[in-house]
Amino acid sequence: MTKCTRTILIAALSAAVVLAMVIGAAVWLNRPQPLRPVDSQTLRDAITTERLTQHLKALQDASDANGGNRQAGRPGHAASIDYVEAQLKGAGYETQRQEFTYERRDPSRATLADEGAPSTSGTVTSLTTYEVETDFRPFARSATGSAAGNVTAVDVNLDNDRDTTSGCEASDFTHFPRGDIALLQRGTCRFDTKVQHATDAGASAVIVFNHGGREGLFRGDLGEDAAIPVLAATAERGAAWASRPTRLTLDVDTLESVTTENLIADWPGESGETVVVGAHLDGVADGPGINDNGSGVVTVLETAIQLAKLRAQTTHGVRFAFWSGEEDGLHGSYHYVESLEDAALEATELYLNLDMVGSPNPTPWVYGGLGREGWRGLDHPVGETMADFLTEQGAEPDNATFEGSDHLPFLEAGIPVSGLYTGADEGEDGPADPCYHLACDRTDNIDPDMLGLMADALAHGVLAVAS
Ligand SMILES: [Zn+2]
Repeated sequence: MTKCTRTILIAALSAAVVLAMVIGAAVWLNRPQPLRPVDSQTLRDAITTERLTQHLKALQDASDANGGNRQAGRPGHAASIDYVEAQLKGAGYETQRQEFTYERRDPSRATLADEGAPSTSGTVTSLTTYEVETDFRPFARSATGSAAGNVTAVDVNLDNDRDTTSGCEASDFTHFPRGDIALLQRGTCRFDTKVQHATDAGASAVIVFNHGGREGLFRGDLGEDAAIPVLAATAERGAAWASRPTRLTLDVDTLESVTTENLIADWPGESGETVVVGAHLDGVADGPGINDNGSGVVTVLETAIQLAKLRAQTTHGVRFAFWSGEEDGLHGSYHYVESLEDAALEATELYLNLDMVGSPNPTPWVYGGLGREGWRGLDHPVGETMADFLTEQGAEPDNATFEGSDHLPFLEAGIPVSGLYTGADEGEDGPADPCYHLACDRTDNIDPDMLGLMADALAHGVLAVAS
């Protein structure tokens, strides 16, 4: 090696050392602040009603710009995931999307046509096609399938001079021709009673029409799956079919394939155990879904953001999960639990669910709080911690025991659960949320004080269980 070469080498090495120092300084400057213990009050002070309301506004915008809903597999839900993911990334989280597919009923694909009266030569003389969502719609939990045949009206009252009991008694069907389509009128008894009687009498399908004085089309739910197709129809259509011989053909084969995603972000802990905190980010087809469940989403999201901003030190990891497909049957949370490895299932200390926490006529319900057993012996003590917190804040919490949300798959897997809820269409002084599953479930359908209180209760509970 010549002297000259050595000088160049030394110069190069010096440059490398300087460069390394510059990079080292940059890394040091960008290094996140160390984690530190954070108390409940500090976390709660950081979670403001203003921030929660801003997130709700963003979800409302996602719906308004995409056809008025945030249903799984549709653009309003995709925009919602993008928003929540951007917020989480902005707070420093890495996020994962977990894709899955399921089949969903699409009522807009149902068909109904009038075959007209057969002429003496046997050919059909007329055919009217009715409009789904205008003239008729399938009941929730109608059977899928098709039917064609004569329509037989059962104990209907077209004068509308009294409430009808059409189909309420099994004896209404004494002379019902098996295989006909039963035409029933709404009123007096439950839909499932009418449909059960028609099914027992051998009807191939049921059409329930609105009674006079009640305009338009109604929504009906049967409580459980029907054995035959069941449609709702307007009073006008029903009266026309009842007043002349009618043959109808209908089809309720309406399955569509939905591909959608859960969104997951992890806050690190030291113990290897995880607390999962979740809310469903999808909504129903008929509205923007701001209380159900924008409210749960924003409380979970803001807890995640502020935990990261405060660099909160936690013993257990906290996994924040934003489920999809809840409204179609808890598909996202089932997919998550079913795809967990045994070790990850074992390491899940608790699942905390947030679904509808800003109801305008609210009761602060705590899953398994108040020392009463909620479900299957799998209540977690954090329920009592949150109920005590709410009591200290002057609220009067009650004990929730429903199973119709994303905590159910966790319960079935043997994982303790808790959660918060402020009510849907139940309630002693009118429904807790009169806009439940409707187009009016907008940002003005939220009680901001209750939302803020539930966010505080969640923050308090998460810190209590994770620290
Ligand atoms: Zn919900």
